[in-house]
Amino acid sequence: TRQKIVAGNWKMNGSLESISALVDGLLKADQSNSEVVIAPSFPYLSLVSLSTADSSIALAAQNVSNQEKGAFTGEVSVSMLKDFSVKYVLVGHSERRSLYAETDEFIASKVKVLLEAGVTPILCIGETLEQREANQTLVVCEKQLQAVLDLVGVEAFAKMVIAYEPVWAIGTGLSASAEQAQEVHQAIRAFLAKSSETVAKKVQILYGGSVKASTSAELFAMPDVDGALVGGASLDANEFIAIVKAAG
Ligand code: 13P
Repeated sequence: TRQKIVAGNWKMNGSLESISALVDGLLKADQSNSEVVIAPSFPYLSLVSLSTADSSIALAAQNVSNQEKGAFTGEVSVSMLKDFSVKYVLVGHSERRSLYAETDEFIASKVKVLLEAGVTPILCIGETLEQREANQTLVVCEKQLQAVLDLVGVEAFAKMVIAYEPVWAIGTGLSASAEQAQEVHQAIRAFLAKSSETVAKKVQILYGGSVKASTSAELFAMPDVDGALVGGASLDANEFIAIVKAAG
């Protein structure tokens, strides 16, 4: 059985004050069978790394450079992230795909850099509303996966986490139903199984998009949903803890 992961993507939110309070809140409830992951913005990584060091909370970064080091103003390398015990990095988030024009190939290059450094990529994929309505959901998800498969191979997926985040569900309050999530998660696993059944069984697939405490138990009951990538609701300690509890 796959361990569940509940990850909070704080996006570009918070201040020194609010993030300290949020971490304090999470530390008070630090006991779970699932893995709890939080992804603060870069400036807060060192602070959060120190304050969660003695806890079971794992740290994620929201982005990484695909370059090792050098003249790349404004970028952050994987070795810098490792200095702060970052275990996971979000890659391919729809906001980066759409607002920062990150291509499938560019995203794959980030996955490769992370894997080589022993940091786990959380590879985000998902379709827009137009694509869903045109019955392109699986075509889109498979294309996004294929670019990474082509570069790193199927075995690498055993060392990755996938997050299915339908774009129409992100920040809209309109979550996919548990059944809709299950259907796509199952298809993602079947797609990987064509290359390796072992890897397909092992890879954790999270759902993201307007996850809240009230609907998370139903979501986590689905056989191919291995946790959640939570945006807005992860900024409220009590709401996030309730989601973690729902994951068991
Ligand atoms: P919301 O939970 O705010 O919809 O965001 C989901 C998301 O993008 C997580 O990465």
